[in-house]
Amino acid sequence: MNRMGYFIFEGIDPNRCRVFYSGTMTERERRAVLSYMNEGVRHEQWMGWATSRMDGSRLGTQCMKTPDEKWRFPEEWNTHYIVEHGLCPPRNFINDAVAWWELT
Ligand SMILES: [Zn+2]
Repeated sequence: MNRMGYFIFEGIDPNRCRVFYSGTMTERERRAVLSYMNEGVRHEQWMGWATSRMDGSRLGTQCMKTPDEKWRFPEEWNTHYIVEHGLCPPRNFINDAVAWWELT
């Protein structure tokens, strides 16, 4: 399974995450991505909370997987980093989201 949004695993300095997730999405892609992530199911439970690397706020305690099981991502990455901070997932993640969305 691919990983998305794990800054440390991806070798991304959390302080610079806005630079690494700075792509753009069309409104249609954004709807597909949010729906793809909202339909995610629990993949793994962690022992504690994750905190936002951008403002320290408390996030989820789980790894989620996308409904097609191609990607895992930290719980609330969608609502927090995309909706609140305006980050953009990588292009291959967006493409998988759109492909899944078109089939649903
Ligand atoms: Zn934040």
